[in-house]
Amino acid sequence: MPEAAKGIVLRVEKTSIHDGEGLRTVLFLKGCPLRCLWCSTPESQSLSPEKAFVRDKCVMCGRCALACPRGAISEGAGERMLTDKAKCVMCFECVKKCPSGAMISYGEEFTSEEAVAEISKDEIFYFHSGGGVTISGGEPLEQAEFVKEILIDCGERGIHRAIETSFFAPWSKIETLLPHLDLLYVDIKSINAARHALVAGARNERILDNIRLAANSPFPFDMVIRAPIIPGVNDDDRELAEAGRFAGGLGKVETLELLAYHRLGTETYRSLDLEYPLRETPVPDEEYMKAKARILADSSGKRILINGLPFDA
Ligand code: SF4
Ligand code: SF4
Repeated sequence: MPEAAKGIVLRVEKTSIHDGEGLRTVLFLKGCPLRCLWCSTPESQSLSPEKAFVRDKCVMCGRCALACPRGAISEGAGERMLTDKAKCVMCFECVKKCPSGAMISYGEEFTSEEAVAEISKDEIFYFHSGGGVTISGGEPLEQAEFVKEILIDCGERGIHRAIETSFFAPWSKIETLLPHLDLLYVDIKSINAARHALVAGARNERILDNIRLAANSPFPFDMVIRAPIIPGVNDDDRELAEAGRFAGGLGKVETLELLAYHRLGTETYRSLDLEYPLRETPVPDEEYMKAKARILADSSGKRILINGLPFDA
């Protein structure tokens, strides 16, 4: 029997009511080739497991520094433990010895069988709510073989399967997953290639080509296009209308969803000792989002959701 594929899982969230119909288990994977300025899960960007420090939980006992075989941890100013990233080899001895949960790790290796076993624990809820599994990230296509095995196994168990992806990947990876999907969420972060490069770290031509190809595929999955709205960053009205016209021509797509910018990842940036680039960007209010939804509705002719809720033009 071939060995099960392995993947690096960031976390598993149970009974989510977002990211698809009904109650869902969301499997967040590590690894993403893009660098969106508004990313709310910076801990998902690296494919490898990594270590973080939560200042508010630290009781300054010093056990992490004693446990570190590389002498990478020292006490810094302002009652915080500092890690010298150049010395750290991510052995996670400090995480194991920390008594208060201040030293934490992001990412754990799973086999596809272990992931499916975890997903299957909630089968009864999927059955009663019309839910299932959603594989998210990071970017699931960075671990396409692992994802494919999970999707196939879940399909055999009758579990509804969705993925959330940027589609910034070779088509050869994407097409192997399409026969095993019930629902596909894809982002258009900006329809303008130069702006996309500026705000997400790469141009968008490959993404738009992949969206066109997926929308023309013969497999019977539903497809939802999502557009994050980051005020003043990627939400120019004319470009949004252009994105609407693009999505309006995609046969498989019945629904477009706007996702409002939020700052929920701020603490995680701090724990990883990373700069949060959009500190000053305002969070859009309801009226702001409705105005953007109107533009998208008029230009696409499609059904519009705002953060999962129907927008009534
Ligand atoms: S992960 Fe290992 S090497 Fe890195 S700081 Fe912790 S104990 Fe030291
Ligand atoms: S072991 Fe945990 S609580 Fe103790 S100093 Fe290190 S991070 Fe803080």
